[in-house]
Amino acid sequence: MTFVCPGCRHDLKDEAPRAYSCMACQREFPFIAGIPDFRLFDPPYVSRREETARVNALLDRYREFDWEGLTRFYVRRILTDLAPDQKDAHLEHRLTLRYRAREREKLLQAQLQDLGYSLPAGCRILDLGCGSGEATVAFLSRTPHVTGVDISLEELVLARKLCEEEGYYSGSFVAACAESLPLPTQSFDFVYSMDVVEHVRDQRAFLLEARKVLKDGGGFLFNSPNRYSLVAAEPHVNLWGVGFLPRNLADPYCRLRGKGPYSGKRLLSYRELTAIVKEVFGSSHLFERRPNPKSQSLAGKLYHALAPFSVKAYTLIAAEHLVFTQVPGENSKKAAGRQQPAAGRMKDSKAHSAES
Ligand SMILES: [Zn+2]
Repeated sequence: MTFVCPGCRHDLKDEAPRAYSCMACQREFPFIAGIPDFRLFDPPYVSRREETARVNALLDRYREFDWEGLTRFYVRRILTDLAPDQKDAHLEHRLTLRYRAREREKLLQAQLQDLGYSLPAGCRILDLGCGSGEATVAFLSRTPHVTGVDISLEELVLARKLCEEEGYYSGSFVAACAESLPLPTQSFDFVYSMDVVEHVRDQRAFLLEARKVLKDGGGFLFNSPNRYSLVAAEPHVNLWGVGFLPRNLADPYCRLRGKGPYSGKRLLSYRELTAIVKEVFGSSHLFERRPNPKSQSLAGKLYHALAPFSVKAYTLIAAEHLVFTQVPGENSKKAAGRQQPAAGRMKDSKAHSAES
C-alpha cells in the first residue's frame, strides 16, 4: 500500500516499521502496535494518553486470547464508560457483528447489482471508519485489496486480531482521520462507510476525501441516521426527539434525561444530506429501498400498505438514509439510467440496531 501525507498530500519517506515521514511538511507518522498512525487529530471520545494505556492493555493480552477472548477482555476490563448492564448488550453486539457483517456483505452485493453496479474483479475497497474490522474481513473474502481506516487505534488492534484469525493478511489497517486520508488520489474502486458520517468533525471534508480517493466511475456507499426520524429514536442514545431540538440543546437534553453527554455526533436531515452529497458528487443518488420485507414493526407494515405513495413522505422521517453515489466515469453510465429520483431507505429501529 502506498501512502501520501494526510496533511499536505506530498509523498512520504517509508521508514517502516518505525515511521513514515513527509518530505515536504516534515510531519512524522509513527507505527503504533504495527499500525501506521496518520491521524492529524485525536479521537473525540478518549485522550491520547488514555488511548495509549488501553492499546497497551490490549497488546499485553494479544497473544493469550483469541479474537473473542480479546473482545470480551476489551469490553469487560478496558471500556470504562459503560454501565455493567450496557456492557452485556455491547459485548453481544460486538461478538455477533462478525457474522452479521458477512450477511450484510452478501446483501450489499445484491443491492449494488439492483443498481446496475458491480464491484470489478480484484477491485480495491476502502472500508472508511472500519471500527473493529468486521466488514473489512467480509470484503477480504471477495478481494485481497481492502484497506480499513479508523480513527480508533483500539478498534484497529481488534480488527487486526480478527483478520489474523480469519487467515487474511492483516497489514491493511490504518489509523487516520476520515477528513484527511493518507491515501493516494483515485486509488479505490469502492468506498464503504457505515455509521461514520454522523461522527466526523467535518462532514463535507469527509465526503470530499471519499470522492478524492475514488477512481473515475468508483462507487461510494454510506449510511446516515436521519436527524428528523419519526420512526426511530436517536440511535446512539436511544432517546426520542433529540434531532428536533436545536443542535446546541441536544447535549444538555441528553444529560438531563440521564443518557450522558451527546458530543461528537451530528445527524443530518434528508435535506441536509441530499444537499451535501449533491454539492460534493455533482448529484445526489440516494437509493430507494423499501424497508425490510420481514419487518414486523408497525411502521414497516404501514409502509408496505401505503407504498408507493408513502415512499416520498416516509423518506423525510425514515430512521436512516442509505446513499449510493458514483464518481462520473465509464462504469457509472450503466447505473445512471436506473437512478431514482431522491428517495430514502427506511429501516425500523429494530432493524437498525440489529444491523449497525
Ligand atoms: Zn506533509
